[in-house]
Amino acid sequence: MTQDLFDITIIGGGPAGLFAAYYAGLRHMKTKIIDSLDELGGQLMTLYPEKYVFDVPGFPKVLARDLANNLIEQAMQYHPTVCLGETLQTLVPSADNTAYALTTDKGVHHTRTLLIASGAGAFSAKKLPLPTAAALENKGVYYAVKSKATFAGKRVLVIGGGDSAVDWSTNLSDVAAHITLIHRRDQFRAHEHNVKRLRQTPVQVMTFYELKDLITHDGQLAAAVIENNQTGEKKTIEVQAVLAQLGFVSSPGPIRNWGLKFERGACVVDSRMQTSLPRVFAAGDGAWFEGKLKLIATGFGEAAMAVNFAKTMTDPAAKLFPGHSSEMVSQPQSVIKM
Ligand SMILES: Cc1cc2nc3c(=O)[nH]c(=O)nc-3n(C[C@H](O)[C@H](O)[C@H](O)COP(=O)(O)OP(=O)(O)OC[C@H]3O[C@@H](n4cnc5c(N)ncnc54)[C@H](O)[C@@H]3O)c2cc1C
Repeated sequence: MTQDLFDITIIGGGPAGLFAAYYAGLRHMKTKIIDSLDELGGQLMTLYPEKYVFDVPGFPKVLARDLANNLIEQAMQYHPTVCLGETLQTLVPSADNTAYALTTDKGVHHTRTLLIASGAGAFSAKKLPLPTAAALENKGVYYAVKSKATFAGKRVLVIGGGDSAVDWSTNLSDVAAHITLIHRRDQFRAHEHNVKRLRQTPVQVMTFYELKDLITHDGQLAAAVIENNQTGEKKTIEVQAVLAQLGFVSSPGPIRNWGLKFERGACVVDSRMQTSLPRVFAAGDGAWFEGKLKLIATGFGEAAMAVNFAKTMTDPAAKLFPGHSSEMVSQPQSVIKM
C-alpha cells in the first residue's frame, strides 16, 4: 500500500501507457503505472510478441517484443513506480476534489490525475472447454507463443481459423517437427494472403475438425482426439503441444462502474483526451472519440496529448506545449545516443 500522492497514475502498461509514462517523466510528473498483468507491454508482449509490426513510425519493421522492450526502456528512464499484477476496484475523489483514491486488491493509490490506457480491458485467451486441457495448461497446452523454442522439435496441433492460428502455423513450421492446423469451418477468417502463405508450408490443414479430447502418457500430452463435424469421423493424432488460438475475451472490469461515459467499449474523451470525469484522461484503445482508429501509432499521439493536458492541471503554471525533447537539457543521459 502507498500513501504517496502521485501527479499521474496510468492504468495499463501497453504501448499507450508506456509512452505516456515516458512523457510524464519528461514533464517532471511523479508517475505510477498499474497493470493487472505480471509484465509490461500490453498486447505487444502478451498477444503477439513474435510478430512483426510494420506501421510504427521510424521502424520499417519491428518485432512486437522489441517494440515493447524499447518502450519500456524509454519509459523507465524517469523511474516511474510500476505496480504489476494488481486488480482495480474503486475510484473515489478526495473530499476537496483535487485528487483520487484508487483502490486495488493490493492497496490504495493516491493520484492527482489518472490516465486510463487499459486498451480493450484486462484480456485473457479463450480457453479450451476440456478438463484435460486445464490440467495441461502451459505444460503441453498453450494459448500464446511466448517463445518459439517451446514448440521446437514437437508435433504441434494448432486450433483456430483466424490470423493468429494461421500465422502461428506458418511461423512455427520452421521449428516444429510437424504441425496440424484444425478449424471447425472450411473458410478461414484469416487474411487471404496469410492463408495463401500457409498453403505453401508443410502444415497439414484439416477443415471441419474439432478437438474432442487430449490423451496423456505419464502426465505428458501424447495425443489429441479430433472429430470431423460433418461426418462424425474421429482421428487420434500424436501431438506433444497444442496451441489454441480461439480469440480473446476482454473486460474493462470495474472501470465500467466509475461513472465514466463509455461508447463502443471505450471511454469517451474530448479533444484534450479528457473523459467525462474531471482530471481523468484516456488514450490508446481504451479511448473513444469520433474518427478513432485503434492503432499503436495513434495511441502514442493520444498519450502525449493526455499527459501534457494533465500536466497543466497538476501545475497550473506549466505550459501545455512540452517543448522539443531534442532541445531539453534535462533529458536523461541515456536518451542521447551519439
Ligand atoms: C494480433 C494483433 C496484431 C496487431 N498488430 C498491430 C499492428 O501491426 N499495428 C498496430 O498499430 N496495431 C496492431 N495491433 C493493435 C495494437 O496492439 C493495439 O492497438 C495496441 O496494443 C493498443 O495499445 P494500448 O496501450 O491502448 O492497449 P493494450 O496494448 O491493450 O494495453 C493495455 C494494458 O492495460 C492493462 N489493463 C487492462 N485493463 C486493466 C485493468 N482493469 N487494470 C489494470 N490493467 C489493465 C492490460 O493488461 C494491458 O497491459 C494488433 C493487435 C493484435 C491483437
